[in-house]
Amino acid sequence: MKDPHADNLPKSVPIGRFYLRTFGCQMNQHDSERIAGMLGVRGWQRTGDEKEADLILLNTCSVRRHAEERVLGRLDRYRREKKKRSQLIVGVIGCMAQVWKEKLWERFPKLDLILGPGSFARLPEELEKLFFSGDRVLIDRFEDTDEFFRSPSSRRSNLQAWVTVIRGCNNFCSYCVVPYARGREVSRPPGEIIEEVRSLGERGYKEITLLGQNVNSYRGEDRGGDLVDFPGLLGRLNPVGGIERIRFVTSHPKDISPALIAAIAELEKVCESIHFPAQSGSDIILKKMRRGYTRDEYLKRVQELQLAIPGIALASDFIVGFPGETEEDFARTLDLIREVRFDRIFAFAYSPRPKTTAADLDDDIPPAVKSARLQELLALQRSISLENNQNLLGQVVEVLVEGRNRKFPDRGEGRTRSGQAVFFPWKEGMEGRLVNVRIERATDLSLFGSIIFSRRPEALIRGEK
Ligand code: SF4
Repeated sequence: MKDPHADNLPKSVPIGRFYLRTFGCQMNQHDSERIAGMLGVRGWQRTGDEKEADLILLNTCSVRRHAEERVLGRLDRYRREKKKRSQLIVGVIGCMAQVWKEKLWERFPKLDLILGPGSFARLPEELEKLFFSGDRVLIDRFEDTDEFFRSPSSRRSNLQAWVTVIRGCNNFCSYCVVPYARGREVSRPPGEIIEEVRSLGERGYKEITLLGQNVNSYRGEDRGGDLVDFPGLLGRLNPVGGIERIRFVTSHPKDISPALIAAIAELEKVCESIHFPAQSGSDIILKKMRRGYTRDEYLKRVQELQLAIPGIALASDFIVGFPGETEEDFARTLDLIREVRFDRIFAFAYSPRPKTTAADLDDDIPPAVKSARLQELLALQRSISLENNQNLLGQVVEVLVEGRNRKFPDRGEGRTRSGQAVFFPWKEGMEGRLVNVRIERATDLSLFGSIIFSRRPEALIRGEK
């Protein structure tokens, strides 16, 4: 029987070339892998050159205004290109299609296709209709189907794979467009996820990252009708053969349960790393953001995680310049960062998003202030990341070798279980192997070292005997 997740996709007669550009998060990147897979089995050939494409698809993000502006800039360019090449088909798919809908036609009347993330499975069929009829298409339904997640995937790596476990979000944080762009939470059945991961393990994949806007609220129904929660899912995935590492992203702080902490602590394949966005260190701002936790509750989760899993890597997102954010609120955020000493953070200046409740608030922080706060926050984190990395000097870490560095071919590159990038002298045949690297040099972003042979290197980082 053909493996439904096979990457060596069957080739049919070429019907045209497509160029697919992705904006935004890992969910979008993985959706694009599936879209490329679906188009591949229908006979489309992928090209990296938009000039030779018959079909241009932009898989878009609406989380920040900047990402949307980049898409609008490209559409301006494609408008001119369509005048020269009347056969060219251009489509906007994903979050921006869902949020903007007909408004995209008001700006770009010649745009051929607008299709939201709830209807990705229909994309090949809608393209075929469009080719025959020439009529432009808008699809914005959230279809209650997992068909898309059963479709083939043209993955970016043959070692590391993304696996979606839940889509959508029910949280409605006041600044966030995701619940409007991606709809309410829908969990995939655990049996399907396990089957996909088993298939990946059999084909040589070593690491999986489970994806969802909020993986912690995963509740999938198994074949017997029982509900499986996220720690339960991790427990079922841990024994899958071939897979060495399990990661997941993103976790909402309010949903980090004792069972999840125990799963990270006890399941040997689950990496000691968690991304749980704080967004702000000020209770006043957290309330306005409708995050559902206070600063103290966030710090309590941090303590519980660090107590149960010594050395766990912590990552977070922050928004600066939220409406009404005072210097004091911002100082509370900096304090939180100093206290937690995150391994990584992703920080952004606030921009109002359509449909969200925060869009009704006065966006009163001047752009120059937002930018200065962002720079200050990032500089603080760079100094913390550097110190965290320097603490690893002389230690031995386990690295999954991802391959040879493109820029410096004498270097191999990989990541620790905590997700930190490591570089070391390259030797042929290392790709896909777990190796032990003694750290000799550290920057804020990367570690450098030499390969050595020892047992259980991560034990050193986790402070075990
Ligand atoms: S938890 Fe909040 S920030 Fe995250 S996707 Fe849902 S609404 Fe957006």
